[in-house]
Amino acid sequence: MSTETSKADMIIIGGGPGGLSAAQYGARAGLSVHVFEEIAPGGQTLIVDELENYPGYDEPITGFDLAMKFANQAEKFGAVIHYGGVDAVTHKQDGSFDVQTSEGLFNVPVVIMATGAKRRELEVPGELEYQGKGVSYCATCDGPFFKNKKILVVGGGDSACGESLFLSKLTGQVVIIHRRDRFRAQKGIVGLMEHDDHIEIRLSHIVNRIEGDGKHVTSVNLHDIANDRDYDEAFDAVFIFVGALPRTQLVPFVETDESGYIKTNSHMQSSVPGLYAIGDVRDTPFRQVVTAASDGAVAAHSAAEYIDALHGRAYL
Ligand code: NAP
Repeated sequence: MSTETSKADMIIIGGGPGGLSAAQYGARAGLSVHVFEEIAPGGQTLIVDELENYPGYDEPITGFDLAMKFANQAEKFGAVIHYGGVDAVTHKQDGSFDVQTSEGLFNVPVVIMATGAKRRELEVPGELEYQGKGVSYCATCDGPFFKNKKILVVGGGDSACGESLFLSKLTGQVVIIHRRDRFRAQKGIVGLMEHDDHIEIRLSHIVNRIEGDGKHVTSVNLHDIANDRDYDEAFDAVFIFVGALPRTQLVPFVETDESGYIKTNSHMQSSVPGLYAIGDVRDTPFRQVVTAASDGAVAAHSAAEYIDALHGRAYL
């Protein structure tokens, strides 16, 4: 690792669709762009089995394939993707940022936070004990282990409903419970679920505890809110999709909303000049691959203007 400070125009933290779109637009605008991604390009997209709503693809594409296209395109235009982490971001008095990375220290005028959000846990007894033994947060990763088994899905958003549809291709016994009497998910996804014979919907239900034999999940104790009743039911797996926690730890100095998402204006500019936020980590009404990609394009364009203004140039 270099002990010298490297200069660049833009550091993008996170290599999901937002980060890689920003990288492509930034590099095409002639900026020196470095992306830091800890795992693999694609972020949450990687665990999507079939993406059927990304514009331009009239046949479903896997999240992995789409992520590879994003990465290849960004690199083609000159962005550098590092498979490593960022340890610290410091906002300096001169307005620039020191970014401590696995590749050494960078000093840049622009940082784009594309760090996404981490899956939230349900926090019920048995959840931690049976993680990897029937409790899962990723249907694409773990669903195939439960072919023809009985699966409980917990949650009412697009993830829970969309993943139920994926799981219903593997087994005829999917039960989805949601704590309220109506789903939060998009109507289209809910409609598909309602017409799927392999999915049983139980609204106004919550999990009391997950139980097992020490090696596997065997049952779940549920609470039926409408009838104020607790009951046990046998399940082989519990897939939990109850939202996410934004990853903002690197920039505690930036303004966030009450849920912790980074506040931005329409240019993806945060409360700190030169610091942009895109995709799942920012406060946005709709979290999709296409909206993250759009955020990335807007942020890179705005950042290019910002850098030109710093240099006293007009952005063309
Ligand atoms: P989400 O939209 O935040 O939904 C989380 C769900 O979990 C909500 O229904 C919530 O209930 C429920 N929940 C939260 N805490 C709970 C708890 N302690 N116990 C029981 N239930 C709990 O999260 P998401 O579904 O992961 O989606 C995240 C974002 O990604 C959304 O913006 C979504 O649109 C997007 N997304 C889109 C697609 C797609 O378009 N294909 C696919 C996946 C995700 P309440 O409704 O009562 O709050």
